[in-house]
Amino acid sequence: MPLDIVQIPVLNDNYVYLARDPATNAVGAVDPAVHEPVLAELSKRGWTLTHILNTHHHPDHVGGNMALKEATGCQIVGPKADAERIPGIDVALADGDRWSLGSEEAVIFDVPGHTRGHIAFWFEKSDALFCGDTLFALGCGRLFEGTPAQMWTSLSKFLKLPDSTRVYCAHEYTESNARFAVTVEPGNETLQLRYKKIRELREKGLPTVPSTIGDERATNPFLRPMSENLRMTLGLQHADDVAVFAETRRRKDSFRG
Ligand code: ZN
Ligand code: FE
Repeated sequence: MPLDIVQIPVLNDNYVYLARDPATNAVGAVDPAVHEPVLAELSKRGWTLTHILNTHHHPDHVGGNMALKEATGCQIVGPKADAERIPGIDVALADGDRWSLGSEEAVIFDVPGHTRGHIAFWFEKSDALFCGDTLFALGCGRLFEGTPAQMWTSLSKFLKLPDSTRVYCAHEYTESNARFAVTVEPGNETLQLRYKKIRELREKGLPTVPSTIGDERATNPFLRPMSENLRMTLGLQHADDVAVFAETRRRKDSFRG
């Protein structure tokens, strides 16, 4: 049975997720920035927290760790490559590991770039990817602790997943990402349609997350360095994919739109 997944908007634009395995009642909180809204949602549903799943060390992803652990006695799992920066970590995971939330198995990917130690959880049977700040709807994380080549290698791992995979990223950045995306790939009609849908959702105050790997593959410029239209816009027709990705990231860093 697939995971029940609940989205909790917190802080300015973060999403915390609760994932429950209906077979065992195991419940994981993914990147709990804060603890109170998580505890409130758990009690509203009558769920008991058994695990925290951390993708990386930033405060808006681990800020609720210790209070939730004290309140529930849950186990904390996170990236091995950054274990010393994950408060309260019990289980350290690395690329290729398999880790189970109750009866639901996740494949772990090391996806450095945004931070040195960043992991993603792919629950294949639930068609769900928790990717933290690596991949966003129409965007990708800033390169605080990694190189463009590292980030491109990380994002390339997601391109191997099925189109139906739902992308549970950690921020609602989609509308501003879309404003940028249409400037670098103006000839992408699927992107234009998606931009329209995103504006409609945000006008109603609705989330644009999760998206799917299929949507991202077709419209996210950070997954599309092979696009001729993107390459033309950047003036990089003959560069390699890493150089195209790096230039796209560089332009987004200075984009004011
Ligand atoms: Zn972050
Ligand atoms: Fe973040």
